[in-house]
Amino acid sequence: MKSLKENFQKAHIVVIGSGIIGKFNALELSELGFQVTIIDPTELQNSSYAALGLLMGNMYQKRKGRSWDLRKQSIELWPQWITFLQKFNSELNIEKPLIQLTTNEEKFKKLEKFIYENNDQNLRILEGESIFIKNINKAFQTKNIKGMISIKDGRINPFYLLQTLDKYLKHKKVNFSKGEIIKIRKSNNQWISTTRNNENIKSDMVILCNSLKAIDLIDSISHNITLKPVLGQAMEIDVNDAEVDLLSLPKQFNINGKNIIPKSKNKLIIGSTDEYSTKPEENTFEKLTNFLDKKPNWLMKGKISKKWYGIRSRPDGEPSPIMKNLEDGLIICTGFYKNGILLAPACSKWVANEIKNYFS
Ligand SMILES: Cc1cc2nc3c(=O)[nH]c(=O)nc-3n(C[C@H](O)[C@H](O)[C@H](O)COP(=O)(O)OP(=O)(O)OC[C@H]3O[C@@H](n4cnc5c(N)ncnc54)[C@H](O)[C@@H]3O)c2cc1C
Repeated sequence: MKSLKENFQKAHIVVIGSGIIGKFNALELSELGFQVTIIDPTELQNSSYAALGLLMGNMYQKRKGRSWDLRKQSIELWPQWITFLQKFNSELNIEKPLIQLTTNEEKFKKLEKFIYENNDQNLRILEGESIFIKNINKAFQTKNIKGMISIKDGRINPFYLLQTLDKYLKHKKVNFSKGEIIKIRKSNNQWISTTRNNENIKSDMVILCNSLKAIDLIDSISHNITLKPVLGQAMEIDVNDAEVDLLSLPKQFNINGKNIIPKSKNKLIIGSTDEYSTKPEENTFEKLTNFLDKKPNWLMKGKISKKWYGIRSRPDGEPSPIMKNLEDGLIICTGFYKNGILLAPACSKWVANEIKNYFS
């Protein structure tokens, strides 16, 4: 009889959840030759479709420990994956750089110290004489904005990314099933995932990538895993003011914690909020535009043309994300909170290594 190791290429892996994490795991595993099935009932409503797609990796100020290691790996892996995925969508790219700004002198001093201590050529301080700062001060009618620029960080458009992954997965004949998994169990060395319609899907392994709902499928108490919902709202604003040209601004930047992405001369995206709830609060415009002492007129008069939200899962009592081998053939990869797009490559690599070890 052949062992699982000999049959490694024939092993079937079920990925529950098809947000960025489920899709990225499926990509990595199908490249290794596994048979993969992704199961998700409502993939267009997940938090991945709500994301802004910023990759805040190199600008992360804690330069040691697990969070930094994952970020560092992802920053290195993303350009390679983008080159690979461009075969399926030539428009997919990482828009660089990323700029982080503040009006708070203490926070700026911290940024200066961080850059000075790390001596990283990809990070630089931005002050008044920089063209970026001049344009931002002019547009936002401010004088005291400063910050840093990170050459290696940037943004991937999450919508293009998810669509490109779909194209790739279709090309690789990865199965998609529209079910909602309500139970998983092990029987005779196989995993059985049961959908709400009572369909049983058998596999050699299961990877839980279904965010908050992952804990409904496991004994979360004995595994000691708690996830909390953190809702994030974002909006697109139309600005009808000839005084400001939003295209004079950098492609993506952050002022006092709010991310800003100019889309055209008179349209920009701002995100996101941090709401410890599953229902969006109502004062979206105020919550997202109060990042300066005084708003410029054009922003005050801006009109929301689109708004959306996503519910992120945040681990309680341990750092984000949760990546654990729960038992033979069962892995959890979830709880990404704010950084699922950034961390997808590093975390999928970790999962793939665990799986390779399992079958060897
Ligand atoms: C407004 C906003 C802005 C953001 N901006 C950024 C950013 O700039 N950069 C960044 O890196 N991250 C950002 N994020 C965070 C990022 O979106 C998340 O970290 C990431 O999407 C998490 O991906 P996921 O695949 O774990 O979860 P999700 O995308 O939520 O996917 C989980 C999937 O599991 C499915 N599912 C649930 N239960 C079941 C079940 N029982 N059976 C089958 N399927 C199931 C759901 O339908 C869903 O499709 C942002 C988030 C929000 C809300």
